[in-house]
Amino acid sequence: MPVNAYIVETSRGAVVIDSTLTVTDARALRSRVQELGKPLLAVLVTHAHPDHYGGAVELLGDRDLPFFAAGGVDAVIRRDDEVKEQIIRPMFGEEWPRERRFPNQTLGDGESVSFDGVPFTVMDLGPGESPHDSVWLVGDERLVAFAGDAAYEHMHCYLADGFWEPWLANIARLRAELAPGAEVHLGHGDPRGSAPFDWQERYIKTFIDALRAADWSDREAAKAAVIRAVTAYLPAADLQFLMELSVEPVAAQLGLLAGQAS
Ligand SMILES: [Zn+2]
Repeated sequence: MPVNAYIVETSRGAVVIDSTLTVTDARALRSRVQELGKPLLAVLVTHAHPDHYGGAVELLGDRDLPFFAAGGVDAVIRRDDEVKEQIIRPMFGEEWPRERRFPNQTLGDGESVSFDGVPFTVMDLGPGESPHDSVWLVGDERLVAFAGDAAYEHMHCYLADGFWEPWLANIARLRAELAPGAEVHLGHGDPRGSAPFDWQERYIKTFIDALRAADWSDREAAKAAVIRAVTAYLPAADLQFLMELSVEPVAAQLGLLAGQAS
């Protein structure tokens, strides 16, 4: 599963932001932290999807370390974890951790926690790519942001949660509130830090326009037409299954499916 997690090294320790999905990836992340020779100080999570919190149990083990989330992110993780178990176990088997750890400390929008004098501030975005998204800002200048899946680095996107309108509003908020030229580190794709917000907006609009343009009297043909339109916009196949999983749920949300009251 191509998903990013990040280690922020401070003078005396390491803070990990997001924790991957699989046991193997999370153990590799834990090894990378150990290689620094500094203690893990905390784990922070950006949003409520399992590819970002599932591996936390491997990072934390049975240590009682701080595990931070925006309050709404924490609530959705707890609410949806059992449903995610039903979906992910058949796909990933034993690579999906048998037990999951949930955040043990929550923050509200604009609140900060510091490690070695470095402030980590949460921007609580609310619904967006997931039912609850947030961004972690590191430092005081709004120049370094860990934004989860607020945008993807040119990979296909998961829209099945249906919050594409607030997602577009979140992008507008990030554009307005992050410092010009901010490094934005994302959950999927190149981790080095760009802000592909224009690309992301057009991806969402391409997907929604294709759903509305399709003839849903033939559901399979309509689904194929949407996939054609979106893969014309982004020919690379990375994470295409996430987009394909999103077609029918969002068509249903828009009242497009045959026999559905609109
Ligand atoms: Zn993700």
